[in-house]
Amino acid sequence: MHIHEFQDMMRRLYFHRDAERGVKGTYDWLKDELDELWEALEEKDMKAAEKEFADVIAWLASLANITGINLEKAAINKYNDKCPKCQQSPCCCTF
Ligand SMILES: [Zn+2]
Repeated sequence: MHIHEFQDMMRRLYFHRDAERGVKGTYDWLKDELDELWEALEEKDMKAAEKEFADVIAWLASLANITGINLEKAAINKYNDKCPKCQQSPCCCTF
């Protein structure tokens, strides 16, 4: 499955609810899911972390759907097999 297929699936499943909740509400959910991902990682609970990764990408796709962003296109346009800052692969940027 490609990123755009996942995003389309999320649109079929949830767009009606995501659109009603709106951008801010959906963004807040995404932030909550990121916090839950961090909690799972901090506890080294990788089974829970796997579920939270799924929630994060699902809510990111929802947010992209209601803002009209194609996630796959956006990601590939910016990260096209090289670092967008130094243009190298692997990245050679200094911290
Ligand atoms: Zn770089």
